[in-house]
Amino acid sequence: MLREFLRGAAQVHVLHHAAEGDVYGAWMAGELRRHGYEISPGTLYPMLHRMEETGLLVSRGEVAEGRTRRLYAATDAGRSQLALVRAAVAELADEVLPAGERPKRRRREPTRAEGGKA
Ligand SMILES: [Zn+2]
Repeated sequence: MLREFLRGAAQVHVLHHAAEGDVYGAWMAGELRRHGYEISPGTLYPMLHRMEETGLLVSRGEVAEGRTRRLYAATDAGRSQLALVRAAVAELADEVLPAGERPKRRRREPTRAEGGKA
């Protein structure tokens, strides 16, 4: 069950960042690692492809330093899903977390300009 939950949570994480701006696989892998997810490229890339197939993300190729990398951004459908997921996460946290452990304020994440993007 934990495995299944974390798999869904990783997708939510991807969607969250893809709604803020373009993300690419290697950056996303590092970001997930920073949050304690051990996710292999063999899991992450198929996940990104599936999320594009199901219309949550849209991708485009970009050539950087002679290599093509795929940038992903959230679609409108992805943003709608994210809004629903946020409500579900808040509801779940409110129910299952002990009162003292409920998040009161959203923790700020470093922006890419501050070196968040590898
Ligand atoms: Zn993050």
